[in-house]
Amino acid sequence: MSVTDFTALTSTLTSWSDSPARLASARSDRSGWVAEGTPAIIVEATSVSEVQATVAFAAKHRIAIVTRGGATALTGAASAGERAIVLDLSRLDRILEIRVDDQVAVVEPGVITADLDRAARESGLFFAPDPGSVAISTVGGNIGTNAGGLRGAKYGVTRDAVLELDVVLADGSLVTVGHSTAKGVSGYDLASLFVGSEGTLGVVVRAVVRLLPVPAGLATVSASFPSIEAAAEAATAIGRAGLRPTMLEIIDGPTLKAIDEAFGSSLRGHGEALLIAQTDGLGAALEATAVANAIAPLATNVEIATDPATGSDLVEARRRALPAIERLGRVLIEDIAVPRSRLAEIIRTVQGISGDFGVPIFVFAHAGDGNVHPIILLEGVEAGEPIPANARAAADAIFAAALELGGTLTGEHGIGALKRDWIGRELGEKVHDLQKGIKLLLDPHGILNPGKAL
Ligand SMILES: Cc1cc2nc3c(=O)[nH]c(=O)nc-3n(C[C@H](O)[C@H](O)[C@H](O)COP(=O)(O)OP(=O)(O)OC[C@H]3O[C@@H](n4cnc5c(N)ncnc54)[C@H](O)[C@@H]3O)c2cc1C
Repeated sequence: MSVTDFTALTSTLTSWSDSPARLASARSDRSGWVAEGTPAIIVEATSVSEVQATVAFAAKHRIAIVTRGGATALTGAASAGERAIVLDLSRLDRILEIRVDDQVAVVEPGVITADLDRAARESGLFFAPDPGSVAISTVGGNIGTNAGGLRGAKYGVTRDAVLELDVVLADGSLVTVGHSTAKGVSGYDLASLFVGSEGTLGVVVRAVVRLLPVPAGLATVSASFPSIEAAAEAATAIGRAGLRPTMLEIIDGPTLKAIDEAFGSSLRGHGEALLIAQTDGLGAALEATAVANAIAPLATNVEIATDPATGSDLVEARRRALPAIERLGRVLIEDIAVPRSRLAEIIRTVQGISGDFGVPIFVFAHAGDGNVHPIILLEGVEAGEPIPANARAAADAIFAAALELGGTLTGEHGIGALKRDWIGRELGEKVHDLQKGIKLLLDPHGILNPGKAL
C-alpha cells in the first residue's frame, strides 16, 4: 500500500512521518529483534481523538497497528512489520494532575517514567515502578508490559500502581476501566487485563496511577560474595529473616567487570558477586542492620550506608548492568522468574547451561522477586543476523529450567515476539485458548500488535 492510501487519515493528523529511516528503525525495539517488512507510516498522535481516528482507520482497512512509547521493549513487542501503522504516543506526555490528598496522578501515556516520579516528589509523593529504563521508558509502555523494576521487591510491579485507564478499543471507541478510588471491585478487573497486554487489546490514552508517600529514611547495604550463588542464598536468607527491603539486587562477577570497564568503577575488585539491598521508612537504618546481620555469614564483606549519595551511586551502577553488557556485543536478554526459594538453584542451572552450550551468560537479578536476567552474549553476531543455534538452544534450556522449577518465562519484560514459541507451554492449551478468546473478543480483526504476546 502506498502512502497516498493514507490521505484520509493523514489529513486529520497534526503530525506523522513516512521517512524511510524512521520507518526502518520502527522495525525494531531495544531487543534488537527486527520485524519482517517495513511499516507504512508513523502517526505521532497529539490527542486522544487522533488515536481514535488512527485505530478506526486501521480497523476499517484491516491494517496492523503497533503502539509505541519509548520503544525500549526487550522482546520485540514494540517492533512494527510490513504495512503496519506505528502509533507513536511519545507526544502525549502531559502530567494532567497530581491529586496530593488522593495520592494519585492522572497522566497521558507518553510521560517518561522518571519525569512522573520527579513531579510527584515535589509533592512529597513518588511513583513506585522504576524499571532500569526509567529515564527513557514511558508510563504507557510500563503499563503495556506491566514493567517491574528495582523497587519491586517491596512495592510490586506496574499493575500494583494502576487504578484506572482510558483505553481506545480496536474499533476506535473510547472506554474507561478500573476505578480512580484507592479501592473498588465492581465488575471484572478490566484495568488489570489491559496491564501487560503489550498493545494487543487496546491503546491506553490516559491513566490514573497510585502514588506513595516518600519514605522518611533510606539505607543501603552492599555486600560481596565468593560466588553469585552465595549472593542468591543471601537474598533468600533476608526473606527468611522476615525482612522486606525496598530493593534487593544481585550482580555476578562478569557483569561487575563489564560495568567497571564501561564506566570506570571498581566493583569487581570486591568479590565475585555483589548484593545491593535498600531499606526505607523511619526504621530504615535498623532494618539495614538486620539485613547485614542476616547475610553476614555468607558474605566476604558487608557495608551499610545511610547517606543518599552512596545509595544512589550503587543503584546507578546496577542500572548500568545491561548497557555495560550491550557494549560487548549483541545480546539475548532473558527474564525468567522462579519462586524466591529456588533462586540459587536456577542460577546454578544457568551457569551450567552456559558451559553446556558454549555461550557466555551474564547474570543479574531482582533477587527480592526471584526474577533473574540471564544475558546471553552473541559473540561476533551483528544486528539483523540470525541468532546462532547454540544461543537459541541455551535460551530454550533456560526457559525449560524456569518452568521446571515452578517459574515463568518472563518476570517483567513480557513475551513480545521473541518468546511466543514458549507461551503455550507455560500456559497450557486450555488457558492459552482462553487467552486467544479474550484477544478475539477485544480485537476481532487482529489488528492490534499482531504476532505479539500470545
Ligand atoms: C536499559 C534497559 C533497562 C530495562 N530495565 C527494565 C526493568 O528493570 N524492568 C522492566 O520491566 N523492564 C525493563 N526494561 C524494558 C522496557 O524498558 C520496559 O518494558 C518498559 O516498560 C517499556 O516502556 P516503553 O515506553 O519503552 O514501551 P514500548 O517499548 O514502546 O512498548 C512496550 C509494549 O507496550 C505497548 N505499549 C506502549 N504504549 C502503550 C499504550 N499507551 N497502550 C497500550 N500499549 C502500549 C507496546 O505496543 C509494546 O507492546 C529495560 C529496557 C532497557 C533498554
